[in-house]
Amino acid sequence: MFKQMESAGLQDLHFWQDPATGLQAIIAIHDTFRGPAIGGCRFISYSDTAAAVTDAIRLAKGMSYKAALAGLPHGGGKAVLIKPERLYNRDILMQDFGRFVDSLGGRYITAMDSGTQISDMDNIALSTHYVTCTTDMGDPSVSTAQGVFAGIRASVMFKLGIADLQGIHVAIQGLGHVGYAVAELLNNAGARLSVSDIDPAKVTMAEQELGATGISPEQIYDVDADVFCPCGLGAILTPNTIDRLNVSIIAGSANNQLTDDQSGDLLHQRGILYAPDYLINSGGLIFVALQHARHHQQVIHQKVLGIHDALLELYKHAQSENRPTNLIADQRAEAIIHRASLKPHQVA
Ligand code: NAD
Repeated sequence: MFKQMESAGLQDLHFWQDPATGLQAIIAIHDTFRGPAIGGCRFISYSDTAAAVTDAIRLAKGMSYKAALAGLPHGGGKAVLIKPERLYNRDILMQDFGRFVDSLGGRYITAMDSGTQISDMDNIALSTHYVTCTTDMGDPSVSTAQGVFAGIRASVMFKLGIADLQGIHVAIQGLGHVGYAVAELLNNAGARLSVSDIDPAKVTMAEQELGATGISPEQIYDVDADVFCPCGLGAILTPNTIDRLNVSIIAGSANNQLTDDQSGDLLHQRGILYAPDYLINSGGLIFVALQHARHHQQVIHQKVLGIHDALLELYKHAQSENRPTNLIADQRAEAIIHRASLKPHQVA
């Protein structure tokens, strides 16, 4: 396990179990060089503990990179709550998880992620202050969508030299919390939408409310559009799907869109501009981090809109070195984290 931690650059790994509540949880703290680790908690089933540990470590590292590029005073962390196979009381289990978070004394701040919801955050908040996304704070998806919209504008400006989105054709995969909000913003800006979701009701709603054209989930990669906007699952950019894409730009909210660095190389070779996922989707993290630090809404909004300029700057850097945008993003995040590691710790 130490080898696994070392290769991910992980600082610490914590375990907690309580037979009384059924909680079995892991918190992975990638680093606290720039401030307390922040990141969501997952509540899903795992085949075994090793799979849960691997997930926690991988996700914590991703959060560090995201916080670093977003310029937030945080390291990355992630919690994994293994869904019990036996009967359990969800509220009590979340309150127990809050005690786990609290036991780390502020080294880790938790948030919503796959399988958790606002009511869970409210329960966690009964046991710790180190939690975001409670009812009082609101849904980070709105900020994520605003950041993605700002990122699409920057990408269209850089790649196509067009300052507004009037008539720009965007193919959206996934119309969930983020995807539908992005679709609304794009529609208001005059963009043309092709949309897909595995839930046909969401596609019908977008057709009726936004004048979008519904596309089957299998065919969304084949749409002849300006922008492909993945807002559903991760790992969708494979050699096969990249070959089918007929767009100039990929800019969407989904986490871990590239299956590996080779996929980034392929996009670069094909001349498709790729907005690194953890930069364009950092609006939600910016929202929760600054909400937790009690910043004003206007300050938060401005910081989210800053994703536009951050992407433009990254694109110029990648162009000047003729290298894939995902590699430049990783290189920058690693340099920021490394620089911070050389200074005295700023842990809460
Ligand atoms: P969500 O669960 O609300 O929405 C996902 C949508 O994708 C659902 O409507 C689902 O039916 C659809 N979907 C799933 N598989 C699909 C497929 N094969 N084809 C088409 N549609 C499919 O999730 P969300 O909160 O909107 O997040 C979307 C993505 O953005 C996720 O990858 C998430 O990790 C990432 N993300 C979200 C946030 C946030 O603030 N919510 C922040 C950063 C990153």
